[in-house]
Amino acid sequence: MGEMVTKEMPKEWGFATQAIHGDGMKVAGGMGSLVPPIYQTSTFVFEDVEQGAKRFAGLEEGFVYTRLGNPTVQLLEQKIALLEGADAALAFGSGMAAISAVLLGMVKSGDHILCSRSLYGCTFGLLKLMEERYQVEVSLIEMRDEEAVRLAIRPNTTLIYLETPANPTMELIDLAMVSKVAKENGIYTAVDNTFLSPYLQRPIEYGCDIVIHSATKYIGGHGDVVAGVIAGSYGIMQQIQMTTQKDLGGILAPMDAFLLLRGLKTLALRMEQHNRSAQLVAQFLESHPSVNRVYYPGLRSFPQHELAKKQMKGFGGVIAFELTGGYEAAVQMLNQLNLCRLAVSLGDVDTLIQHPASMTHSGVPQEERWKMGISDGLVRLSVGIEEVEDIMEDLRQAMER
Ligand SMILES: *Cc1c(COP(=O)(O)O)cnc(C)c1O
Repeated sequence: MGEMVTKEMPKEWGFATQAIHGDGMKVAGGMGSLVPPIYQTSTFVFEDVEQGAKRFAGLEEGFVYTRLGNPTVQLLEQKIALLEGADAALAFGSGMAAISAVLLGMVKSGDHILCSRSLYGCTFGLLKLMEERYQVEVSLIEMRDEEAVRLAIRPNTTLIYLETPANPTMELIDLAMVSKVAKENGIYTAVDNTFLSPYLQRPIEYGCDIVIHSATKYIGGHGDVVAGVIAGSYGIMQQIQMTTQKDLGGILAPMDAFLLLRGLKTLALRMEQHNRSAQLVAQFLESHPSVNRVYYPGLRSFPQHELAKKQMKGFGGVIAFELTGGYEAAVQMLNQLNLCRLAVSLGDVDTLIQHPASMTHSGVPQEERWKMGISDGLVRLSVGIEEVEDIMEDLRQAMER
């Protein structure tokens, strides 16, 4: 891997240790710097024509041009692979660049993609585009049980694509169940793991093939970068790198890779706090008279609480809740908040709150929204790492005014 000195990382190191040290890097550029430098360069100089020719032919390791690989970005990719328990990973300029590289890289016209019903809005948009313009068949189903998945598989199904927990109702899908059915039918499984981060859920351990993150969320964690990553086997990562990453070109900038590497160092710590605080906030909301219903996998009242305990190391930082007063109550409450920031996105150290019916899902017709479990009074809260009492107090005063 280029001119950097590397060393093997002990495999038995725990997650938090790997998240700090697990980038295979001992010395950065020989200068002894603790933190890897940002290789802010578009291209790499060859010593002679022979070296250039070898690098292009793949006969010599080394960098050529930043769209094809960059040392800072590669460090991030190695760390993501390690944390997801994958052979390899690739980084992209946004979560959607990562998702589009996977969908376009793994599927051709005439193929069928089987998807879970609740998907990130832009993923849904891309699937629609592939259906309408590239003759890809797409179906959206509830992946409740083995039978439902089995029945939805067609002879031309090549990819199962799912999100768990789903946005915003936190509905879960059993990863082991889906990957088992997929494997029996020779189908790849891709999982958008954005809501939990590799600290709380590692789909590859359950037999899934491709893990996707909007690294904009928990991996970055500080609301200062838009990025995406994917992880999986060498074969699949190479296929995607050599086709859609290289040729669509939605790569990550070195500076942004640096920000994500910094974010990863505190991922374990942040996720622990997100878990703890969200649990307390969810319990507080559940006991509040202005709240109808709370969707949080850590609550005993959550219908899939057992599945959450089985496949997730913690319940994460995202909560959805329904105000008894509906649309008007949600609008009024959100306008009264002082600490919780009214913004889409999630996974930041700052608490962020949004109203799907008027914001992220406003483009979806009301009836469709209702079918997705998104009522007009539903609010999505991404619990940050501020003092949890302050978060609860802010919500209390806003609901009581
Ligand atoms: C935000 C998000 C995306 C899109 O990621 P960007 O970085 O905004 O492109 C995809 N999936 C999920 C679940 C998300 O929350």
